[in-house]
Amino acid sequence: MTETVGEAIRAAAERLAKTSDTARLDAELLMAHALGIARSDMLLKAMRDAAPAVFPDLVERRSSHEPVAHILGRQEFFGLELAVTPDTLIPRGDSETIVEAALEAAPSAGRVLDMGTGTGALLLAFLSQREAARGLGMDASEAAIAVARGNADRLGLGERAEFRLDSWLAEDWTVGLGQFDLVLCNPPYVEDDAALDPDVSDYEPAGALFAGPEGLDDYRAIIPQLGKLLLPDGIAVLEIGATQADSVAAIARDSGFESELRHDLGGRPRALILR
Ligand code: GLN
Repeated sequence: MTETVGEAIRAAAERLAKTSDTARLDAELLMAHALGIARSDMLLKAMRDAAPAVFPDLVERRSSHEPVAHILGRQEFFGLELAVTPDTLIPRGDSETIVEAALEAAPSAGRVLDMGTGTGALLLAFLSQREAARGLGMDASEAAIAVARGNADRLGLGERAEFRLDSWLAEDWTVGLGQFDLVLCNPPYVEDDAALDPDVSDYEPAGALFAGPEGLDDYRAIIPQLGKLLLPDGIAVLEIGATQADSVAAIARDSGFESELRHDLGGRPRALILR
């Protein structure tokens, strides 16, 4: 007898439980992708249909730790559907904290810079909530810039978003950038020798993750330049690792900034607002 969608999801969830903390959700997302329909429609209408032939291959990929976002080629972030490739960090729910902090701390920001924009997630989420704002996303990866540009255009935000290939590790990178009301940044901040989940270490770009022995190298490069990049009342909102609040606040203090800490929904330190 042919397996139904419902039965195939149940079996896949059991199999994926060995390698994923979100096995049931993963199985549902992969099945909806295989069927080419929204997950909600599948749960309501399609559970008794025959499972599509491509499904086992998707489950096989996921059980080898390939992220669901890579298999689907997209990830939801702050209510936006973003294209994702192996060239970009997959936008995390925890990073929505950065957007929320920015919307609250810089409600009328007109000019926004997103440093290390990746998929464009932080910048596009902010622009989607503030119709008068315009932004510049910079990234050291040409492939990431192409992904971000595609996302901006697809979401109808392309007119208000520019992208620029540049690295804050280069000499004189601030020249010609201009000044901003708001700087957003989710830099690499993982310690070089940290043991990451294979979902991350085997599939996501190392350049977006690792930042020296303490994970602080990129903050040390970025923060001293913020004075030049911010307009007089401008602020910066930086994502930080859960144990880095004090170290990053100290780097900020050396450059003359006060820091305010924000936590993510899991209660971990996640963002610093610099003024
Ligand atoms: N939060 C990410 C992780 O732990 C790290 C993101 C980053 O370095 N910016 O996988």
